Amino acid sequence: MPTYNRADVVFERGEGPYLFDTAGRRYLDFAAGVAVTAFGHAHPHLVEALTRQANKVWHTSNLFRVAGQEKLAERLVANTFADTVFFTNSGAEAWECGLKVCRKYHSATGNPQRWRVITFEQAFHGRTLTAISAAKQEKLVKGFGPLVDGFDQVAFGNLNEVRNAITDETAAICVEPVQGEGGIRVGDEDFLKGLRAVCDEYGILLFLDEIQTGMGRTGRLFAHEWAGIRPDVMAVAKGIGGGFPLGACLATEAAAVGMIAGTHGSTYGGNPLAMAVGDAVMDLVLAPGFLESVERIGERLRRGLDGLVETHPTVFAEVRGKGLLLGLKCIPANTDVVARLRDHGMLSVPAGDNVVRLLPPLIIGEEQVEEALAALGRVAREVGA
Ligand code: PLP
Repeated sequence: MPTYNRADVVFERGEGPYLFDTAGRRYLDFAAGVAVTAFGHAHPHLVEALTRQANKVWHTSNLFRVAGQEKLAERLVANTFADTVFFTNSGAEAWECGLKVCRKYHSATGNPQRWRVITFEQAFHGRTLTAISAAKQEKLVKGFGPLVDGFDQVAFGNLNEVRNAITDETAAICVEPVQGEGGIRVGDEDFLKGLRAVCDEYGILLFLDEIQTGMGRTGRLFAHEWAGIRPDVMAVAKGIGGGFPLGACLATEAAAVGMIAGTHGSTYGGNPLAMAVGDAVMDLVLAPGFLESVERIGERLRRGLDGLVETHPTVFAEVRGKGLLLGLKCIPANTDVVARLRDHGMLSVPAGDNVVRLLPPLIIGEEQVEEALAALGRVAREVGA
């Protein structure tokens, strides 16, 4: 179906932070498949993990134990707030599992009337009917109604609105610590701490969507760590598979109390191939010093972007984001900037609020930062002229 506005370019192969098209042209990949290929293309450790598993067993279903699931789940539990994990193939499925955990928790603990979830304006949680119903954005929902009921939306960052929206029916608050598709809008520490406090006060669950922000993207394993809070439920995807379709819903044992045998499932979720890659991704992201290096190079890129905003104030309005989840708010159309960058051999991703997202693989160095800043500078001179 023609549901995508695709750029007319076909990539044949990738190497680290670069992609090569069928004509042999090289592109600096600051799109990373929309924050997915966290370790660039054809990373030897990931290729080795996938091919090794491919020679053993691809798929057995969840009728049987899957050793790779047990190992990856244990590693996720050991490094996060979570006690338990459900594996999926995508972000939307991980998010939807999280939503089911939230509703089931209240039903299993004697409060079945608590089923509504507070969400935020400009949120994005995926493209299932429930996920678009939660986000409510016109461009996502138009023509797909009636929508799934049970979502009360308030302004991102506004704790007063959150408090006013809580009723006896509220089950959870669902938030992206940094809104990605919404335009790289960072939820500040006070806001996230405030949400945790409100959840504790009312006995409701804090459900984080870290599908885009997680797995090292912001310079911490998960973005909520910056605020020093712990969620009850969390959806993860994108970077965790490094390009192999993989998602996960993490939860505390208390929050997942209702998720007993038979309550949820997936044919492919936690497939041995995905688990092998996920485990290899964990090796890389947990390597000593890796997250610090993401933070450092993110700061370096950000300083360069701040410089571009200063030099080209008629083209770039501001820099947003954390770590290597960065956004440039544009004055000309962001889609024009993205297309021109591509012409100059650099890939980026448009986001809401006229922002260009810069989502490089987490392995970039000084050289790629310089290259990106040069391409952005060239585009700024072109459109600002
Ligand atoms: N939630 C967030 C914050 C996302 O950024 C995305 C994807 O962009 C999703 C959910 C949906 O993930 P997927 O496209 O893998 O279903």
